[in-house]
Amino acid sequence: MLRYQETPIIRIESRISEQAGLSLFIKREDQNHPLVSGNKWWKLKYNLEEVVRLGSDTLLTFGGAYSNHLYATAAAAHELGLKSIGIVRGEEILPLNPTLEFAQSMGMRLHFVSREVYRDKSNPSFIDSLYRQFGDFYMLPEGGTNALAIRGVEEFGKQLMQEDDFDYVCLPVGTGGTMAGLINAISGPRFIGFSSLKGGGFLKDEVSKWLTSGHNNWQIETNFHFGGYGKTTDSLINFIGQFESDNGIPLDPVYTGKMMFGIFEMIKAKVFPAGSKILALHTGGLQARVRMA
Ligand SMILES: *Cc1c(COP(=O)(O)O)cnc(C)c1O
Repeated sequence: MLRYQETPIIRIESRISEQAGLSLFIKREDQNHPLVSGNKWWKLKYNLEEVVRLGSDTLLTFGGAYSNHLYATAAAAHELGLKSIGIVRGEEILPLNPTLEFAQSMGMRLHFVSREVYRDKSNPSFIDSLYRQFGDFYMLPEGGTNALAIRGVEEFGKQLMQEDDFDYVCLPVGTGGTMAGLINAISGPRFIGFSSLKGGGFLKDEVSKWLTSGHNNWQIETNFHFGGYGKTTDSLINFIGQFESDNGIPLDPVYTGKMMFGIFEMIKAKVFPAGSKILALHTGGLQARVRMA
C-alpha cells in the first residue's frame, strides 16, 4: 500500500466570496502524499492492488513530457518496489525536463515514440510490439482512468462526504475520470468541472461513460482553458501568484489554477446563489509549477 496522509479542508477568506455572501473552501488533497499527490493517489490505489494480486512486477503507462500521471506512476512504482515503463509522446529532448528527469530517477524506463505512433497507441499491433519489447506488464491508460481508478476516486468521495455538506463541488478535469468517480459516490452537491483543455465539449461524454446511473447534477465549464492543455497566460500566472500570496496555498498552472480562476469568475458573475457553500478540490499537480518559473 502507498502511504496516505490525511488532508484538511480550509476556508478561503476572500473579499470576492464574502461580497457574494458565499463560503469557499478548499480540500488540500494535494497534500495526501509527497510524490503521488492528489487525485492520482486515488486513481492508482486499486490499480496497484491489482498489479500485486496478478503477481506482475511492472507497470507500463503513457503520457506527454509534462504528465502528472507519469510522474505519479513512477513514484508509486518506486515506493512499492515495482518496475515502471513510461511511453512518452514525442522525441527525446536532452536534458530531460524536470518531470521526466524525476520519473527516470524513480527507476522509470522512458520509451519515446513519435506523435503519430503515440496517437495510435491503443492499436493492438502497437501494444503487441510493447509486449515483445518489454515482456509482461500491467498497463495503465494515459491519464490513468480505468474502472479501478474510478473505484478509488469513489472511495475518496465517500470519505469526503463524511466531512461536511457542500452545495457545490468544483474540480479540474483532464480525462473526466475523477469527476465521474465523485459524482457516483456523492449525492447532494452540484459538481462543476473545469476543463483544462481546449475544445472540452467531448468531456461530457467521457464523464458519462463512467457514471453508474443517470446523474444530472453536474456540468463542465469549457471557457477557462487559457489556450489549451498545458498552456498559460500572464493573467493566469498572475492570478496563481496572487492567490498564493493571499492564502498561502500554491496552485498549479495546468489544472488547479485554471479551476480556481474559473470559480472566482463565476462568483463575480453571480452564478452561485448567496449562502452557497462551495468546495474546490485541490487535485495536486504542483510538480508542474517548475514550468511557471
Ligand atoms: C490528472 C489531473 C487532473 C485530471 O484528472 P482526470 O481524472 O483525468 O480528469 C486534475 N488535476 C490534477 C492536478 C491532475 O494531475
